[in-house]
Amino acid sequence: MTGNELREAYLKFFAEKKGHLRMESFSLIPENDPTLLLIGAGMAPLKPFFTGKMKPPRTRVTTSQRCVRTGDIENVGRTARHQTYFEMLGNFSFGDYFKKEAISWAWEFLTEVVELPKDKLYATIYPKDDEAAAIWREQPGFDPTHIVPLEDNFWEIGPGPCGPDSEIYIDLGEERGCGEPTCGVGCDCDRYLEIWNLVFTQFDRTEDGKYNPLAHKNIDTGCGLERIASVVQGKPSNFETDLLFPIIEYAAAKAGVEYGKDAETDVSLKVIADHARSMSIMIMDGILPSNEGRGYVLRRILRRAVRHGRLLGIKDTFLTGAVDAVVKIYQDASDFGALVAKQDYIKKVILLEEERFQATLTQGMELLNEHMEALKKEGGKVLGGADAFKLYDTFGFPWELTEEILHENGLELDEKGFEAEMQAQRERARSARKANQRVAVPDLRDRVDVTKLRQDESAVEAKVVCIWK
Ligand code: ATP
Ligand code: MG
Ligand code: MG
Ligand code: MG
Repeated sequence: MTGNELREAYLKFFAEKKGHLRMESFSLIPENDPTLLLIGAGMAPLKPFFTGKMKPPRTRVTTSQRCVRTGDIENVGRTARHQTYFEMLGNFSFGDYFKKEAISWAWEFLTEVVELPKDKLYATIYPKDDEAAAIWREQPGFDPTHIVPLEDNFWEIGPGPCGPDSEIYIDLGEERGCGEPTCGVGCDCDRYLEIWNLVFTQFDRTEDGKYNPLAHKNIDTGCGLERIASVVQGKPSNFETDLLFPIIEYAAAKAGVEYGKDAETDVSLKVIADHARSMSIMIMDGILPSNEGRGYVLRRILRRAVRHGRLLGIKDTFLTGAVDAVVKIYQDASDFGALVAKQDYIKKVILLEEERFQATLTQGMELLNEHMEALKKEGGKVLGGADAFKLYDTFGFPWELTEEILHENGLELDEKGFEAEMQAQRERARSARKANQRVAVPDLRDRVDVTKLRQDESAVEAKVVCIWK
């Protein structure tokens, strides 16, 4: 099955066989939710239906939600299973069906529609959730010794609706494992792959920490399209599936390198493939590169991709070709009509930003290399805030990129010093405005506020982590 066929199979299964309303993916930009920078889970745009703030169009809904998780950015290419952009297939119940249906339909989909081998599947549960354990034991062909109780399997964010969850894993074989004696479900290596999370929202937690059973219990599930595609297509990682590999092929041809020969080359190719999808779809959803919020995430992703292109030896701009590869992957997929319609626009936005960064990347890298050499000579470990600020301000290096390059070289960034420089520049701009002078630097309201961004990002991640333990 292709990735596009898998998406259809899932949505059809829940819409046609299980009575769900099939809804289009929501935008990556959250609506009326200032706590979120970007949508990172299928349930996020449906929150008003879960809290009862809004009446859902039907009590059963299914979607394939576009998601971006910047918190996974440094995993991209390093693990087999993480991208910044992915699609989360989901089926949701708003006070309708509950655990029994959620588990047995997931089992039916995986073993009958997708035909995964039953003896390779595992289910984690919350240790006190005897109900979930009993339901799992009833599933035809499920090995009851494959139930793994994990304390972590409880979803809650402060007072309010919460409950246990159950995650479905597949054992991909010993040869994919880390070989540690402790290796098992939940190990961070590639052997046991988490494919689906089922959340059972059944309690209302009071301010004083009591868990009262909810009158209307909810179901919220999330299944990674690229992960399930990697299993179905028998590929070693998400990146070899038809949802990503054509972009790798494009980048490899452009760089004149071969995939699968050198680990670091492969990481760069995977980063480019992932980031090309992220940036295309973010722009499709109306985000533009900037120095703040979502626009900054986009800028950071795009510039990171350019740097990996450079690492592969690509000298010219190359990202618009990657956009063409992305569009080709999705051209016949439902929910992606806007990608095809906006193809030229997306390429224009990306080319402009790429050219801006290309123009300064070489000089910036030279400067950073000089700093790093000087540090190594002196036996220093930390790049000063003023130096990092110059890279940001003059050469357009997102500070996270500088930090990442430093880390690759065993060095650190003086974040506090960097933030002090930012603050000083804000002050200069403010007094310049007061004195009614023109400010010589670009729009300062657009300047990145590191502390704020960190907060934004950790708010997103905290949410995501809590929602999908
Ligand atoms: P992991 O532990 O592997 O990081 P997770 O527990 O953070 O995954 P959930 O938050 O439970 O993931 O999200 C539900 C599903 O979405 C996961 O089971 C997985 O299939 C998919 N998923 C989550 N994060 C990613 C990602 N970065 N890239 C691709 N798929 C993902
Ligand atoms: Mg995760
Ligand atoms: Mg999970
Ligand atoms: Mg997990």
